[in-house]
Amino acid sequence: MVNRYLREQNYIDGMWVHADSGATIDVTDPATSARIGVVPRSGQAETRRAIAAADAAFQTWRRTTALERSQLLRTLHDLIVRNQQALAELLTLEQGKPLAEAVGEIRASAGYVLWFAEEARRTYGEMVPSPWADRRILVTREPVGVVAAITPWNFPSSMLARKLAPALAAGCTVVAKPATQTPYSGLAWGALCEEAGFPKGVVNILTGNAGEIGDELCLNPIVRKLTFTGSTEIGKVLLAKCAATVKKVSMELGGNAPFIVFDDADIDRAVDGAITSKYRNSGQTCVCTNRFLVQSGVYDRFVDKLAAATGKLKVGSGLDPQTQQGPLIDAKAVNRVEALIKDAVGNGARIATGGKRHMLGGSFFEPTVITGATSDMLCMKEEIFGPIAPVSRFETEEEAIARANDTEFGLAAYFYTADLARAFRVMERLKYGMVGVNEGLITTVEGPFGGLKESGIGKEGGRQGIDDYLDMKYVCLGGL
Ligand code: ADP
Repeated sequence: MVNRYLREQNYIDGMWVHADSGATIDVTDPATSARIGVVPRSGQAETRRAIAAADAAFQTWRRTTALERSQLLRTLHDLIVRNQQALAELLTLEQGKPLAEAVGEIRASAGYVLWFAEEARRTYGEMVPSPWADRRILVTREPVGVVAAITPWNFPSSMLARKLAPALAAGCTVVAKPATQTPYSGLAWGALCEEAGFPKGVVNILTGNAGEIGDELCLNPIVRKLTFTGSTEIGKVLLAKCAATVKKVSMELGGNAPFIVFDDADIDRAVDGAITSKYRNSGQTCVCTNRFLVQSGVYDRFVDKLAAATGKLKVGSGLDPQTQQGPLIDAKAVNRVEALIKDAVGNGARIATGGKRHMLGGSFFEPTVITGATSDMLCMKEEIFGPIAPVSRFETEEEAIARANDTEFGLAAYFYTADLARAFRVMERLKYGMVGVNEGLITTVEGPFGGLKESGIGKEGGRQGIDDYLDMKYVCLGGL
């Protein structure tokens, strides 16, 4: 497939370049394991050059008007929309998700760019009533400077959109490193920004040795902010490294989303929400339901309906329009899912549907429902990141809330009830950054996305999503 956005070079200081050493990394299609192409294996030297380019570009980019930046972002938005099919095909090719989901992701990317094109013009400061007759108090907001962005493979386009768009809107310049498994959707942002007319050095995209690039991004004092989406494990490592130069940080890390179904819930609606929330991107999203907690009175009915709906999901190549479930990202992901099922079954759980590798082979796996899950099973404690739905029974509202909150994570939670008073009670007590009440799919550009506890720091999207790219400055103007 010829795709004009498939770039096999890095984008540094407005130029498309190979790694200094000429070394490359293979990129493969998770549906077929076939090699798609290569990307540069860049390291510390290339990263330093990208940071220097971003720093030089910042000196002029920061002085552009909000309206100029807004207009460039609008041009970028229009380009993404116009080329959504090519961008979606590239995404499916390297990531595996069904094409319809890939188109949805590209549209979401465009949505973030448009949203922050609008927000660029509303980064208001303040004038505060002064306690002194001869002085005035101003609060202004300025771009933080060079921003480093590290993104994962599960949403290789939109995770970068949520970082690039607010950074550019705020007047920052960016050095981005997409995930090694899905670099093309990241590099495509370089091509798009170039085409839209962003000045050289404003956006730089590097692929290669994650540790080496990551270390330079974290330790280099010119970088003033690191924004990361990925595992809690790596997030903690990066946080510690950023401490040395006291960078601003945003962290979108792992989750362990509970999905609570109360006796009074609309069960059909809950099953619909469960399917979307659990199996979107084959369960590989940080806000995917990780564990179902279902009240005794509706447990059997919910399990039967969930298993029936899960069993009907069509598994296949993301490029086939009939497909609802693509492959997992790689063999490691399949091994992990298998190990979690083995642990659950070994501890007394039962498989209601699925449970094994799919007959298509490769990294395809059957969408799986496990019943009789208990809190001590690994699939209830750890982030699954795959198509397994463990279902556990509970008796009281108090118990459901306690079990939902009993985790180091605090990203997304979902619950279903028809009782308004209960909806408020439960919503207020869930220690999560995002809550879906009678909804299983809640991510949208207008809402501030982000977790509590070990799920992260900061918000992406919403009017709040630009705050992390701005420094606040207090100015006292005297002698008046
Ligand atoms: P996932 O489990 O989603 O692959 P990771 O946290 O491993 O999550 O990866 C998220 C991003 O972090 C990817 O771009 C990956 O290449 C990058 N990454 C992994 N290890 C490091 C590291 N030591 N330093 C910097 N970035 C890293």
